[in-house]
Parts: sequence; structure tokens; C-alpha cells
Amino acid sequence: MNVQCGICKDAIDVLTKSGDGGSVASALPCGHVFHSPCINQWLNQSGSTIKGSCPHCRSCVAKKQVLKLFLDLVPLENYEEDPVVIKAVNENLKRDIESLKDQLAHKGQTTDKLTAINISLRERVLELENSLSKAQSKERLLTLAQAKLNSRTKVCCCLDNL
Ligand SMILES: [Zn+2]
Ligand SMILES: [Zn+2]
Repeated sequence: MNVQCGICKDAIDVLTKSGDGGSVASALPCGHVFHSPCINQWLNQSGSTIKGSCPHCRSCVAKKQVLKLFLDLVPLENYEEDPVVIKAVNENLKRDIESLKDQLAHKGQTTDKLTAINISLRERVLELENSLSKAQSKERLLTLAQAKLNSRTKVCCCLDNL
């Protein structure tokens, strides 16, 4: 919330209590709001000890009509619409996003490494499958050779028996 003092043109920061614990802002009956010290000083300079005029709309005002404003502050967590709070939240979110991006990049590197390992493992599996099928065909040949050898041995035995 940014409220401007019509006298000094500075923001009236209702979040800051004045040093003496008094009100930070004062309102006139016309509705215009100023820093309490600013409007007090203004009215004291007006010549009259009981009357003055609003610096903004010039309407007549009795000094005793100045309303001191005491604003109770909402706890900070309820100040989500406050631009300052939004900015801070935004900064925090930006930092979160950056750290998540870092983590993501790191995960990406790990994924790349794992993909490379996966590819080389698949190549190894293919090699092993090749070796296995070669071994299997050799085994078949050996079985055939063994069978032939067996039948020849049988013939030899038959011949011996003659
Ligand atoms: Zn002021
Ligand atoms: Zn006024």
C-alpha cells in the first residue's frame, strides 16, 4: 500500500510506527490524509491558533478536527497483495526455479551417462547373443559328428564280430 503525503510528497509508510509511538498519519474532515508531523506543522504555520485549511483542497479545518490515524497492521503472511511482499515472494520463486534448473541439468547429465551405459550394455548383449548362437551351431555340428562317429564305431564292432 503506497499512500502519498500531500505536503512532503513522500510515501506515508503505515507499516512503520513513528519514533515516539504516535500516529504516522492524520486525516482531515475533508478526507485528505497526510503525515501527522507534516499536517501539524502546516496548521501551526497557518497563523490562526485554532483554524487552518487543507493543503490539498483548501477546505477550512479546525485543528481539533485533525484525526490521528492508528492503523493496526495485518500479520505479514496476510500481506500477499502487497507489492513488496509479492516482489520478495517472486525473488524466492526465481531462486527456487534456478536451483530446480540446476538440479534438472544435473539429472540430465546423469541420464546421459545412464543412456550411454545402457547403449554399451545392449551392444554387449548383442555380442553375447552372437557368440551364443555360434556356440549353439558348433554344438549341433559336434552332436552330428558324434552321431556319425558312433555309427562308424558300431560298423567297426560289427566287422570285428564277423
Ligand atoms: Zn509528509
Ligand atoms: Zn482536503
